[in-house]
Amino acid sequence: MEYCLTVDNLSKQYRSYLALDSLTMRVPKGAIYGFIGKNGAGKTTLIRIICGLQPPTKGDYSLYGVPYNNRDICAARKRMGGIVETPALYGQMSACDNLKQQYIILGKPSFEGIEELLDLVGLKDVGKKTVKNFSLGMRQRLGIAIALAGDPDFIVLDEPINGLDPQGIVEMRELILKLNKERNITFLISSHILDELAKLATHYGFIDKGKILKEITAKELDEACKKRIAFKVDTQNGLCAALDETGLQYKLTSPLEGELYGEISISELSDILKSHGITLVKVSEKDESLEAYYINLLGGDSND
Ligand code: ADP
Repeated sequence: MEYCLTVDNLSKQYRSYLALDSLTMRVPKGAIYGFIGKNGAGKTTLIRIICGLQPPTKGDYSLYGVPYNNRDICAARKRMGGIVETPALYGQMSACDNLKQQYIILGKPSFEGIEELLDLVGLKDVGKKTVKNFSLGMRQRLGIAIALAGDPDFIVLDEPINGLDPQGIVEMRELILKLNKERNITFLISSHILDELAKLATHYGFIDKGKILKEITAKELDEACKKRIAFKVDTQNGLCAALDETGLQYKLTSPLEGELYGEISISELSDILKSHGITLVKVSEKDESLEAYYINLLGGDSND
């Protein structure tokens, strides 16, 4: 397995406060790594360290296999782009001028590719509008365009979804998925809300009190938290036989209501019930188990 980032027993001490405590994690190449933890867990501290903004107190990390204290780390870090806390943008300038500024900083020979970048992040039509009049979602996407100007293959985003409206969340999610699929860009994305990353992460690292509690793939997480489908039917006659036929575990919460645990599509469930003369009156898929998994990991201690 190739990794963009490996972190080994990394600690960060702020005076008497231990913000990172022997943290170990692995971000595989090609992953969308959800870095999940409550506020104050240490996510930004780790991100600031790997972006080279502050040194660790103890321990090691490597980018593309290059240890952070090796002189080749600058070259490795050039393959990385990131937005830490909020994107650094010039409010009085347009999106295009912000990108031109970044091109100049990077020493690029021409402004070629700026239009394509604006198109890629959905900001092609904003024209001369200054960034101070952008929505938070537009700023975040411009931040990504600026990170992309350096042609990175690893992008680090600190709470990119925080404060976005539902439409902004969808646009951000689609952009990240597109960049991951089409440009094979690896992402490390921090969030304090597991649900927000559940639709896009391929890997998760759960951090609490400066330590990684668990690293798990999305597939393993899906298996660990069996899906729950709550249903209501019109008759109890033949209900158990029909539910047995699904091959899944179930629990009846009343004569006409119950819950099924596992993977089954609603149309498949409806067909099985129908073949037993039963009509599905109400059905809902519950994702709470994902949150429950997280709370269990934290030992039932979740204040967010
Ligand atoms: P997260 O990003 O998960 O919300 P942070 O990494 O920002 O968490 O913070 C982890 C802990 O370290 C917090 O308790 C925070 O108050 C503390 N911390 C962060 N930066 C500093 C600093 N420069 N000096 C002292 N304490 C800090």
